[in-house]
Amino acid sequence: MIDLHSHSIFSDGTDTPEALAGLADRAGLTALALTDHDTLEGLGRFLACQPRTAAELVPGIELSCRFLGRVLHVLGLFIDPGNPRFRARIEDMRERRVERNRRMVERLQDLGVAITWEEVAALAPTDAISRTHFARALVGHGAAGSPQDAFRRYIGDDGPAFVPLKDLTPRDAAAWIREAGGVSVVAHPGRFSHRSFRWEAAMADLKAQGLQGLEAHYPDYGPAEHQYFLDLARLLGMVPSGGSDYHGGHKPGQHLGVGTGSLHVPDEVLGRLKGLRPAETV
Ligand code: AMP
Ligand code: MN
Ligand code: MN
Ligand code: MN
Repeated sequence: MIDLHSHSIFSDGTDTPEALAGLADRAGLTALALTDHDTLEGLGRFLACQPRTAAELVPGIELSCRFLGRVLHVLGLFIDPGNPRFRARIEDMRERRVERNRRMVERLQDLGVAITWEEVAALAPTDAISRTHFARALVGHGAAGSPQDAFRRYIGDDGPAFVPLKDLTPRDAAAWIREAGGVSVVAHPGRFSHRSFRWEAAMADLKAQGLQGLEAHYPDYGPAEHQYFLDLARLLGMVPSGGSDYHGGHKPGQHLGVGTGSLHVPDEVLGRLKGLRPAETV
């Protein structure tokens, strides 16, 4: 069993990279990827755990893109965290994220929520502040009853205080990942847009843009949706990847490897993805 999607304190998870590596072995995983949102910062510490970790530790990232007017996440797996060009691109994204977050605080204030930058920043261990931190800040402030309520009322993709991150296209994300020696995967397509969204044409478009895999195994999926994405991957010749999207204490009940209990990403997926790495880096 493998898990190719997880988060540490370097984005919006609660576990350190070292804790994740330890958990991988306790969960009996063959491989674990760390895929923090738009940052490479946790990967050095994560990979440094490899000598004492049985599970293969895979360096990854989860890039926020825009597709069909909505947020689409793209995973980069097996990337080289030291690749200078990729690092410069991610640093540029980080600066844009800080700017976006300041604008979201202003929007909330304009909406009458007297939240401050300090309140939001206090919830994040690094400056990689995401909307999950905003959600908890809004709950702490008393402006929302729960993180879900905060997304619904203010900061969800259709919310009045939402400011999108810069428009990274899936095509650019796939090209950047490839340049850094990695393989690109469409993250949790089942969470994109509404449930009944028909993915056939859109996923074929993403494949044409360079995306190589899609997350067919994911904790949120029911049996029908799971099968749908497995079939779609086969139909399009994309690798059916998968992972728990583990966030530690920020998503209680979501465990490494097994997700909510029934997730099982087969080992053979790892080899199939590795086989797609650009030739010069293999
Ligand atoms: P950001 O990258 O700052 O735009 O924030 C993205 C984070 O917000 C991701 O970790 C998502 O899991 C989370 N997120 C986005 N929309 C929702 C939603 N409607 N409900 C719960 N979490 C969400
Ligand atoms: Mn997250
Ligand atoms: Mn995601
Ligand atoms: Mn994720």
